[in-house]
Amino acid sequence: MLEYPKHLDEVKVYKPGKPIEEVQRELGLKEVVKLASNENPFGCSLFVKKAIEKEALHINRYPDGGAFYLREELSKFLEVPKEQIIFGNGSNEIIDMIARVFLDPNSEALMFEGSFVVYEIVSKIAGASVKKVPLECDFSRNLENLLRNITDKTKVIFIDNPCNPTGFANKKEEFDEFIKNLPENVLLVLDEAYFEYAKGHGVPDGINYVNPINPNIPKKNIIVLRTFSKAYGLAGLRIGYGIASKKIIEILEKVRQPFNVNYLAQVAAVEALKDQAFVKFSVEQNEVGKEQLYEGLERKGYTFAPTYGNFIMFKVNDAQEVYNNLLRKGVIVRPAFGFPDYLRVSIGTKEENKKFLQALDTVC
Ligand SMILES: *Cc1c(COP(=O)(O)O)cnc(C)c1O
Repeated sequence: MLEYPKHLDEVKVYKPGKPIEEVQRELGLKEVVKLASNENPFGCSLFVKKAIEKEALHINRYPDGGAFYLREELSKFLEVPKEQIIFGNGSNEIIDMIARVFLDPNSEALMFEGSFVVYEIVSKIAGASVKKVPLECDFSRNLENLLRNITDKTKVIFIDNPCNPTGFANKKEEFDEFIKNLPENVLLVLDEAYFEYAKGHGVPDGINYVNPINPNIPKKNIIVLRTFSKAYGLAGLRIGYGIASKKIIEILEKVRQPFNVNYLAQVAAVEALKDQAFVKFSVEQNEVGKEQLYEGLERKGYTFAPTYGNFIMFKVNDAQEVYNNLLRKGVIVRPAFGFPDYLRVSIGTKEENKKFLQALDTVC
């Protein structure tokens, strides 16, 4: 009998949003709209497409493990020293590296209820226990409650800001206070996967906690995570990054696979960064789509959580049934993990949103 660590029995396999092709195949549908994985419905920058076509034939070579050009470009863009950046095969890979390095069976990971499910999965794989702090009844999160729940065993705190799936985000002032009181022996993972969408709406820029300029904000152990999967539209290429102190990056580099970020992803990310006009367009269109969905959901009498991201969580009578019925209509949404009465819909193009709202009319 092959043995494996018993704590793996606790680990639930991550269920991704259904791919379009799968729904077309299984339900015999031609037109399928995917609003399930918070992808950019407007594709990606045309510069990216051109660069990938040009570089496609170079994939016989291994990529640059150190991502030299991308590191240089990102360092300039963020005004962060090169040695304070780590790249991952999606920011998910960095979340996994963090758990592998900083968690073990004697430690505890702390997070809010209803956080991004990957935090719990990677923590449990590392054998750590997971403590979840309840949300307020309106799904807002009180950061002081996290501080109150820190114990000697707490090694890592995960916060997604904005939160996926609720869409809620804590404000800069709340974080300023929280960071001041954060113990020195805890690593805060501040996951800003939706930063581009939330920016300018009172949320903090986590990089200012990694490298504080404000003397009132002390330097603590923090890693900020961002991704090219959402506003930059590169989800299929798998590339994200982390920003932390040189020391934390050095430690994480020990567990990074040498060629974790593929060549085309590196090429694409360089071009994507240069095309901030595309990001701006995507974010503006997201605001328009958000209003369209708010209005549509409101008109139909649905309860939903206001969002800082590119997705909306809304309440239904029977989530599984509504989910299945929407699938049959060719609209893929997503159960909102941790919220059994809710579904999560990504904000799409005007047409996609319309199709979703029309489908919703016929399914309940
Ligand atoms: C989408 C998402 C990620 C990003 O994942 P990638 O691996 O970079 O594609 C990270 N955190 C949260 C909260 C997300 O919703």
